[in-house]
Amino acid sequence: MDPQDTTFAKQVKRIKRIIIWSVLFLFVLSILCSLFLLIKNVGLSRRLSRSVAELETVRQTLSTREAELAGLSAQWDAAQENLKEAAAPAASFAYQQEYPDLYIERGEPTQPQSNVIYLTFDDGPSGNTSALLDILDTYHVKATFFIVGTEVDDHSAILKEIAKRGHSIGIHTDTHNYRSIYKSIDAFLTDFSSASQKVERLTGQKPSIFRFPGGSINSYNQLIYQPLIAEMLRRGYVFFDWNVSAEDATEHIVSKETIVAAVLNGVAKYDRSIVLLHDSDRHENTVLAVKDIIETLSAQGYRFAPLDNTVPPITFSYNKE
Ligand code: ZN
Repeated sequence: MDPQDTTFAKQVKRIKRIIIWSVLFLFVLSILCSLFLLIKNVGLSRRLSRSVAELETVRQTLSTREAELAGLSAQWDAAQENLKEAAAPAASFAYQQEYPDLYIERGEPTQPQSNVIYLTFDDGPSGNTSALLDILDTYHVKATFFIVGTEVDDHSAILKEIAKRGHSIGIHTDTHNYRSIYKSIDAFLTDFSSASQKVERLTGQKPSIFRFPGGSINSYNQLIYQPLIAEMLRRGYVFFDWNVSAEDATEHIVSKETIVAAVLNGVAKYDRSIVLLHDSDRHENTVLAVKDIIETLSAQGYRFAPLDNTVPPITFSYNKE
């Protein structure tokens, strides 16, 4: 064999080897690259799905916040509406055009009397009123009954008897439901009108005096008491709060002695007293106490009188003595 041929064959062999190794190297390199890219891709897709999940959480939080905001916005609207409603009666005075029969001729105020006691009975008539009327008759005492319309429905004959025996009848309320009557001035006027019509129909007398359930200023009428009082005064009515309470309106039954003591202690503080007592079925002890109250105070030189629209009122905030 020619030595030149041998050298050539060797070279060819070398080149072949180089080519094979190069191909092998490139093959391994491409596999490694693919592997690297694959791993990187898996990582990326994991990060991507994590981000998608985070985005979903953010989206959910946003929609929760959105719902909360909608709720708050609805609350705000309702509060605005309530405010408008509360302010509306004072602003519009539309109620002044309603209830054309709910006017009464204003009384000419007299001078305040000394040593006078006005016994007033709220919440009747009741099953106790007849006994009470008999005691008042025995001592020739005239008192004032601030009646409840729904009680009048049940005791219409007794209401007539109160009038017949010369006592004053004033309106307390028709339903005695604080929440409904103090909802608005209109609501109060509707209730008042109903009670007034019942008294007028049964006695022939239209009441000119009244007592607010809970007194003229209470926790139920805070938003409307000023325009409400103004409206009732504008219509000619006179209202009476009290400066002496018999403390007989508590949840438990109060003893006769406690009622007598509360009234005597209260009356001793004032030149004239408007005494708050109650005339409902659970106030039997009040009836018994009245006898002692009249006897004791008469002996002390006091006299008793009924209220009317000429008596200067005792009120919690207006014309306070
Ligand atoms: Zn009452």
